[in-house]
Amino acid sequence: MSELPPADAGSLSGELDEPNDAMLKAMAQYPQVDLPRIQRAVREILAAVGENPDREGLLETPARVARMYAELFSGLHEEPAEHLKKFFTETYDELVLVRDISFNSMCEHHLLPFIGVAHIGYIPNGKVIGLSKLARVVEVVSRRPQVQERMTETIAQLLIQELNVKGVAVVVEASHSCMTIRGIRKPGSLCVTSAMKGLFRSNVSSRAEVMTLIYGGRK
Ligand SMILES: [Zn+2]
Repeated sequence: MSELPPADAGSLSGELDEPNDAMLKAMAQYPQVDLPRIQRAVREILAAVGENPDREGLLETPARVARMYAELFSGLHEEPAEHLKKFFTETYDELVLVRDISFNSMCEHHLLPFIGVAHIGYIPNGKVIGLSKLARVVEVVSRRPQVQERMTETIAQLLIQELNVKGVAVVVEASHSCMTIRGIRKPGSLCVTSAMKGLFRSNVSSRAEVMTLIYGGRK
């Protein structure tokens, strides 16, 4: 067995090296995130699992993980609705669908990534949004500790609140690392969630239309 530093070692209880350029840049970019605190926590985890956080290969790891978490959780400090404020007034009232918006998020139960695509369909009610804005909404909502069910519902509610849509359909498909690399270990399993609101809930043919368009081109 290798020798582990004691849990109360000075280096573990908080004295970090002076932040380097990469760290200073990240601190400026993510002012709401306590990066040194993440660094200390990651050192603790490394020591706790039986590693030596002071061996060469791990020296930069806590700082790197801190920057990564700041990025992966940056959606906590952003308001997704901001991306839906600039809409166009249009009389178009047929289905608008953006398919296969890729995203990555972090499962809040295990802090492991889940990765997949979101499909967003809506029927406008006088307000149409730039298509790239839907992708921005998905990005902000996914960059939080998250569960797929809530992510799906949150996106649907945002379109209802901000655009007053006649109907919204959100379908999210993702592979969860917490199911594929640990626990039950089922690689290839896909979790599918959907939120159907307004016309897509009340009208069977509208729902069938959007589902056909989402899945139509697939084998
Ligand atoms: Zn999980």
